[in-house]
Formats: sequence, C-alpha cells, structure tokens
Amino acid sequence: MIPLEICHRQSPNHGSRGEPARIDMLVLHYTGMKSASAALERLCNRSARVSAHYVVDENGRIWRLVSEARRAFHAGISCWEGASDLNAVSLGIEIVNPGHEWGYRPFPEEQMSAVERLCRDLVSRYSIPVHRIVGHSDIAPERKSDPGELFDWPRLARAGIGIWPPEHPRLSAREVDNARALADLAAIGYCATERSQTPALVAFQRRFRPRRCDGRLDLETAGRLSEVRAAFERSRAGPRRTSPVEPTARCRRCE
Ligand SMILES: [Zn+2]
Repeated sequence: MIPLEICHRQSPNHGSRGEPARIDMLVLHYTGMKSASAALERLCNRSARVSAHYVVDENGRIWRLVSEARRAFHAGISCWEGASDLNAVSLGIEIVNPGHEWGYRPFPEEQMSAVERLCRDLVSRYSIPVHRIVGHSDIAPERKSDPGELFDWPRLARAGIGIWPPEHPRLSAREVDNARALADLAAIGYCATERSQTPALVAFQRRFRPRRCDGRLDLETAGRLSEVRAAFERSRAGPRRTSPVEPTARCRRCE
C-alpha cells in the first residue's frame, strides 16, 4: 500500500474538543469552491471561521489544516443519531470539487484513492464505526448537499469505510408509508421530522439511491430505506473494535 503523505498548512480556526475528548465520527464534504487554492485560503482565513482537519485535492494531494486532537469547524448546525455537537466528536475531510454551485463534476481516481487511504487510516486509528461515517448532507440535509450524488460511496464501503448495502429491487415492491419512511430515516441516524422529511429524503437519495435525488418517497426509495436501515442496525448491534490512537501518517511541507 502507498504510504500516506500529508502536506501541512495551519488553519487558525479550531478549538477544544472538550473533556473527555472523544473522536468516533467521520464527516466527508466537498469544498464547493472554484479551485483548491481558493478553498485552502478560505479554510485558513481567520475571519471565515471555517476549517477541516484534512483537504484532499483532485490530484490526490492531502493537506492537514487542523490537528486531529482539536475541534475543526466543519459540520456547523447539524445532527446525527439525535446528537448535535458533531464538531466535538468528528474528523472532517474536505474533498476538492466545485460543487453544485460552480460545476459539480466526478471525483477523479487519484483523489478517490487518496480519500480512501486517508479514511482507512483514520477509521482504524480511532475505531470509527461504519454507521458514523457520513456526508455533510446526511447531518445537515436542509443546508447542505455535499459531497453529493457523484461521490463514490460504494467504492469506500468496499474498503470498509461507511455503509452501502447492495440493492435488491424485489424489496421495492411494497406500499409507500410516510410514517415508516420517517422511522427508517431516524433508525439510520437522520434527524428528520415531518416538516424536514423532503430534504432528509434528498440527502438519503444522494447517498444511497443517487440515480434520482428528488426527495419523493417512491417505491424504490421506500425499499432502499428499509435495506439501508437493516444494514445500519446490523452495524450498531455488532462488536465495537478498539485500537490505540497512534498517528501513522508522515508529514511534510508542501507549496
Ligand atoms: Zn460540507
């Protein structure tokens, strides 16, 4: 396996995780800016008050902006499994892509390979369970759409990063039931209410049924909800691995 090589750049935008510090969640973003350098500049600009632990450029270069021990400002107002202070317990990775505003495009292979290696390293060092590896839109569906429907979650899941159960179309042939959809969303981890059901369904579709992200509870979405719910419940019921927290990545300065 190619060793992780990390470039360093300091963002002033970080704080204490609080006591006792706990890291058990990984949040993936896209930068949503025209270029990698514009994104790095903003994430390191004190007045922007935003940051992330890592940035992964389209050519696969990885930058660390904030020490993992510190709270980075990436999740904003967000919620997962009923909890809302997610910056305190998570690591945030910004993946360079112009996003839906500036020309959303596929994530290149070099970038995905770097994202995969970085995630693998973080997940193993912090024993992050697969049901706590999320996209920004999963935890803030009313505000965010990143990393979006072009992001290759199935690939990461094959590497043990996150959940992406295989699709079984036969499960789709059943009644559509709003109350059950809300219960499925909640059981997966989404903090959805009746009022916010549509954006939550869009977020769910971006992640688990990316062919069409219209927020409609069609038969296929209903079937997919129950498949994904079952996979998340299996993960939560499974044994929790523990391993010592030891940084393994080499660091260097890059221009
Ligand atoms: Zn984001």
